[in-house]
Amino acid sequence: MVDQISDDLGDEIPVFVGILNGSFMFVSDFVKKYPKPCEVTFIKLASYEGVKSTEDIQRLIGLTQDLSGREVVILEDIIDSGNTLVEVHRIFKNENVKSLKIATLFYKPEAYKKDFKLDYIGIKIPTKFIVGYGLDYDGLGRDLPEVYQLQTTQPMTNLVLFGPPGAGKGTQADFLKEKYNLVHISTGDVFRYNIKNETALGMLAKSFMDKGELVPDQVTIDMLNEEVEKNADANGFIFDGFPRTNAQAEALDKLLKDKDSQINAMVALEVDDEVLVGRLLKRGETSGRADDADESIIRNRIKQYYSKTAILKDYYSSQNKYFGVDGVGNIEEITVRLSAVIDNL
Ligand code: AMP
Repeated sequence: MVDQISDDLGDEIPVFVGILNGSFMFVSDFVKKYPKPCEVTFIKLASYEGVKSTEDIQRLIGLTQDLSGREVVILEDIIDSGNTLVEVHRIFKNENVKSLKIATLFYKPEAYKKDFKLDYIGIKIPTKFIVGYGLDYDGLGRDLPEVYQLQTTQPMTNLVLFGPPGAGKGTQADFLKEKYNLVHISTGDVFRYNIKNETALGMLAKSFMDKGELVPDQVTIDMLNEEVEKNADANGFIFDGFPRTNAQAEALDKLLKDKDSQINAMVALEVDDEVLVGRLLKRGETSGRADDADESIIRNRIKQYYSKTAILKDYYSSQNKYFGVDGVGNIEEITVRLSAVIDNL
């Protein structure tokens, strides 16, 4: 933009007029790069009231020098609705300047409602609120050397509740979802629901589940995506039984990234194998689950966990997101241990 403006202005000494407050960093960097002599001045307009662009632009400091006959370039940090330009043109209407050009670092084409010509545009951006490099959010952030987009969605809390079959994930998830107002998604439960309702997904999953094998990744990932989409307004999720493979963990990261979010922690219930087998056989007496009734299938599920799923501990440990919790004890004690981890996130 500097090169283009200096070419266009030739050898006349221009006056660059920055619009305060937002443009101070831009003007400073701009004139440092300007290759020829120039003058710099500022006018101060207030267009933002807190965080909302208002129609009513106030002139706080107007022109303090005579600019008649001069080449003037307005330097704006950002033009969105264009309301500020109304006041700029009003200020210059009777100044008899030789030329008045408008240069803006950022421009929101979808928000622009005026007809004034914009002579120089740095970067076109979508209608999102940005902050930093002179631009503020309710007074703050002007000092930041980089530009950021304000996050508009509430940050979510997303937990992976982890542990071998029988560790008590479902039981604990019931408490945690109430306490932290999260949506609990148990992939095992969703599969069982589909089997009960004899859906295509259920029929497909059943053949794997009955043997204690994992359902293929793509089937599981598609189903999980759908469950998350059904709860688009959630404060966050407790993922129970998912992810169970690296591919699933990567798919989950991608899904959450698309929502400007992430997994905050994997909380893992650690329970000894023999305790698990005992618990699952006992559950099988009442749960009606075929995969809880047979000790060899139970042992296969635990084996699957260690051979395929336990590697996810490394996946989350490497991001400092793994928290092991002793899963042996009474239900309340374990809830307290899990809450201590979550409260510290
Ligand atoms: P669970 O209720 O979590 O013990 O899951 C019961 C069964 O559902 C597992 O043994 C698998 O066959 C299947 N399943 C549940 N979640 C997944 C997953 N994330 N990936 C593959 N299979 C799964």
